[in-house]
Amino acid sequence: MRFDNRFVTELPGEPIARPGRRQVMGALWSAVDPTPVSAPRLIAGSAEVAALLEIDLATLASPEMVATLAGNCLLPGMRPWAANYGGHQFGNWAGQLGDGRAISLGEVARRDGSRLELQLKGAGPTPYSRTADGRAVLRSSIREFLCSEAMHHLGVPTTRALSLVGTGDAVVRDMFYDGNPRAEPGAIVCRVAPSFVRFGNFELPAARGDGALLAQLVDFTIARDFAHCDWNVAVEPDDAAALEVRRAAWFAEVCERTARLVAAWMRVGFVHGVMNTDNMSILGLTIDYGPYGWIDDFDLDWTPNTTDSRERRYRFGQQGAIAQWNLRCLAGAIASLFASTDPLHEGLAHFEAEWNRAEQSNAALKLGLAIEDSTALELMNALHPTLQSGEVDMTIFFRELSGLDPAAPSAALFEAAFHDEQIAARTQPALDSWLADYATALRREARPGAERRASMNRANPRFVLRNYLAQQAIDRVEAGDDRAVAELLDVLRHPYDEQAGREAFAARRPDWARNRAGCSMLSCSS
Ligand code: AMP
Ligand code: MG
Repeated sequence: MRFDNRFVTELPGEPIARPGRRQVMGALWSAVDPTPVSAPRLIAGSAEVAALLEIDLATLASPEMVATLAGNCLLPGMRPWAANYGGHQFGNWAGQLGDGRAISLGEVARRDGSRLELQLKGAGPTPYSRTADGRAVLRSSIREFLCSEAMHHLGVPTTRALSLVGTGDAVVRDMFYDGNPRAEPGAIVCRVAPSFVRFGNFELPAARGDGALLAQLVDFTIARDFAHCDWNVAVEPDDAAALEVRRAAWFAEVCERTARLVAAWMRVGFVHGVMNTDNMSILGLTIDYGPYGWIDDFDLDWTPNTTDSRERRYRFGQQGAIAQWNLRCLAGAIASLFASTDPLHEGLAHFEAEWNRAEQSNAALKLGLAIEDSTALELMNALHPTLQSGEVDMTIFFRELSGLDPAAPSAALFEAAFHDEQIAARTQPALDSWLADYATALRREARPGAERRASMNRANPRFVLRNYLAQQAIDRVEAGDDRAVAELLDVLRHPYDEQAGREAFAARRPDWARNRAGCSMLSCSS
């Protein structure tokens, strides 16, 4: 692996590691070393991510590599740092946040010119750790590791996960902030992405009135992370008008990517849970897997995050609106770089247009109808109240839908998607009526059945990381059986295939998981 570490070689930072939490002014990063742990063990690795780095699983499992992934040693060329950023949390400006427990090890420059940053989450304190310990617990690390890779295999843009390492050290957490702290096993995930820059990296220098630092970060990001975009043409550094045009095109691109990202979440039933602006990737990747959850019973109002249970700001059905709110924060942050706000309003209009397009295409792909007309979206909107009142399992319902016979539509197909016979019986008339309308649309389009089914099955996964499946893996690892993670990951590698013999992983949530911590309720404590 060859490291070029452009973030720290090209941008201003605090180059000498120095202990202590502090406000860091005029700098976008601070040098910091990971804090060693007692007994690192590799719990799981991703062969696909290792391959991106041109290493095999045997190398990943070698003592030297495991020590590196635990933060106990560095490879030649690594130059660890924590990034300085701020953010809006739950709607309010929170000031400096920064990487409080994530430490980037370096940027791998790949042979094809692309780059991948390696970042340890839970590697010990940094200048940005505020009152916390810089560590992560095993349960949340398992969830981050699995979900990063599951999302990738689902085709949803995401940061990746190379490894999950147990530290051998205990971490104390009060899971529900109710005065019951307990010691839990600690772990570290090595995350991998072209960049971990968030909206909040731009918001912090803007909030501090440091326009020069802000401009530097914007132009660096455009040059490093958006190099291959067709709008990204060479500009003379003193050509203010051309610079502004390029920055405007960049913002529009960020808006479009964010729209596509959140629309992808809606397609597969993913609820991020903490869409604070410090958790919004500038590349449009899913980032920071915390109290996220997967929709079991279809419910636009559901949030997995107990910390958000009253306001439900980050509920499933509001994710698009929140993404837009976050983009307005980003627009506000970079506004000082523009002569007028018009380009920013134009950028935000790109969100709207892309969102509408993606919503229509989600509906069409999930229902197996033509993308061009609005029938699919109308049918989808008409279906939602029935799915919601019927407490219908979202994943099972859409997966089974491809098996519908347009000549003889029957609700019997969806038996496995209901958890309660009475509710199923009560829902049947509305479902029958919707199925009749849907079958009419299918007959009108007369698309060959096999082709339609194959296409629908590429949009509607059979396997997602159901909340209870993640919890079962956590329980097994905490009981000493590390294989649970690799086994579940193997199922999630092929979410759109039927995978004979693995039907149990596609089963709806069992009753025991309905109100169990970790299965339906999660907190930010991780
Ligand atoms: P999150 O809600 O996980 O995105 O975290 C918000 C902020 O809190 C970020 O600046 C994190 O780095 C910081 N943070 C969260 N957990 C810890 C921890 N255990 N130690 C230090 N900082 C943390
Ligand atoms: Mg975060």
